[in-house]
Amino acid sequence: MAGVALAACTDGGAPNGSPPSAVSTMVTAGAELDGLLAITEPGRWRSTGDDRFEVWICHVTQDATAAIYGALPLRLALTPEQVTSVVAEHVTPYFETLSHGRYRPVFVAGGEATLAVDDEPQACIDEAIAGAAGDTRAVLVVADAEHGADQQGGFGSGGGSCTSAPPCAVADSRRFAYVGASDFHPDWGAAPPMDLVQHEIGHTIGWEHSALGPAGEYLSALDVMSNSAAPRQLEAERRDASGTLAVNLFTAGWLAATDVWVAPAGGGSVQLAPSLDDAGTRLAVLPCCSGSLVTVELLAAEGLNAHLPSSGIAVHVVAVGDATVQRIDPLFGEPPFTSLLQPGDVLATSGWVITVGDDFSITVTPDQPT
Ligand SMILES: [Zn+2]
Repeated sequence: MAGVALAACTDGGAPNGSPPSAVSTMVTAGAELDGLLAITEPGRWRSTGDDRFEVWICHVTQDATAAIYGALPLRLALTPEQVTSVVAEHVTPYFETLSHGRYRPVFVAGGEATLAVDDEPQACIDEAIAGAAGDTRAVLVVADAEHGADQQGGFGSGGGSCTSAPPCAVADSRRFAYVGASDFHPDWGAAPPMDLVQHEIGHTIGWEHSALGPAGEYLSALDVMSNSAAPRQLEAERRDASGTLAVNLFTAGWLAATDVWVAPAGGGSVQLAPSLDDAGTRLAVLPCCSGSLVTVELLAAEGLNAHLPSSGIAVHVVAVGDATVQRIDPLFGEPPFTSLLQPGDVLATSGWVITVGDDFSITVTPDQPT
């Protein structure tokens, strides 16, 4: 499968389905966006309508040797029904909100799998996929053991190609999300943190990480696909992840190409609406270097982004290659990248000068070397 090798989280492969030629007649906002649309539209079936996940429990033997479990002794008495209830209450509404009703992961109780003493978690994932019903599109596998403190919390995959027209069953696509037991510990009571599951479900619909550090750290508080725990690190009562970046809303099919503004070569101005709204121009794209786009969006400090200290403009570079989004990185600021551009600010980057006006309008002009 195509995709970027990542230290801390296994990513899914390229989207699948009909070939890029099938979307060549769609109206798009510019050639730069056409390329991104062509490689992501075939996978949008994953992020459209009801998406049935079976929830499986992975029993980890007490003497399991896989490093991910860190020889920790705790085993939780989890059942598929109990975990299904928790994720249905907290994860389904998150995606309904983020997609404005366009996407709804539907969780149903699946079965239970048991790892042999020296198995890796993939063995449970494989068993869940093999045992899932024919109308199940993906599996969510939750281990009954915690992960070691120095280990990743989980991983997920958008799967491979359907062998016939999508949507297809999980046995065909092999879409999965997997997490350890920590977030389902009874000590969390009625308010467990669900940001990690939300992050892994993001992988199952084809999203890649943003702001990934050199050692695989998730550096940004602006995106569920970076540091998903950032909201509760900034506000202790938070349990959901933040929203996601406008480019992900676009690739998922939740933000129409007609709501994307592509900067003319000579520059221009646009009034941006908050990226998590359901109407208005919510993404500005600036042609950049070969294979990359610069994205400009207004993040409003409300709703899923209420953890931000203030609203402001975020600017990222999106590297596209090998028929997938390769990297998404912020173009200014320091981790956690919550100091966003304010009215009056000017940013010169990637061949453009971006000036923020009143009410977060932006003006972009080509950066002329002197
Ligand atoms: Zn990840």
